[in-house]
Amino acid sequence: MSDIYIVPIELEDHSYLETLEKFIFNTFHLKTIRREIKINLQDTFDQNRVQYNSSLILRQLITSPPPDAEKILGVLDVDLFIPILTFVFGEAQLKGIGAVVSTQRLHNRFYGLPENREVTTDRLLKEAVHELGHTFGLVHCLQPKCVMNSSTYVENIDQKSAELCPLCQKSIKIEKSRSANKGFQFPWWGKKQ
Ligand SMILES: [Zn+2]
Ligand SMILES: [Zn+2]
Repeated sequence: MSDIYIVPIELEDHSYLETLEKFIFNTFHLKTIRREIKINLQDTFDQNRVQYNSSLILRQLITSPPPDAEKILGVLDVDLFIPILTFVFGEAQLKGIGAVVSTQRLHNRFYGLPENREVTTDRLLKEAVHELGHTFGLVHCLQPKCVMNSSTYVENIDQKSAELCPLCQKSIKIEKSRSANKGFQFPWWGKKQ
């Protein structure tokens, strides 16, 4: 159990994924694997809101995770929501396996501004690391530059860095060693009867 699965879900432009995978590897020091997982996106569409329910997508994504998957990150380009919010950039299970992120509101064009590939990529890296951070048990961080600082608007994403602050890095290390020791067996000489 040591891989982060990157799952494009009906994603039109795959050209961001390579940079994303490299960045995720460098941040979490876990191998990334790109894999398609069958998701019925239409089932998660809300006719009234004209948006997709990210919790329902997440539920489908983690239904039968590959055995070697430590984390699964779904990447989409549709508009996501959870019922209590107008929209979300992504969603994750706290200390869980799954996370989703969408590029829809990360593009300048969404806000009527000239498109800028670099800006979109930068925002995607931040949001993906942020959501994956939640799966490693990180909650929102008060350090303004930390990637775990919460972002309500796209401007908030631009103000923070793509890096975890030292405290968040430390928490991830603890969480990773905790989950690595989960399957620990007593050696025969120390076996409890
Ligand atoms: Zn968050
Ligand atoms: Zn932090």
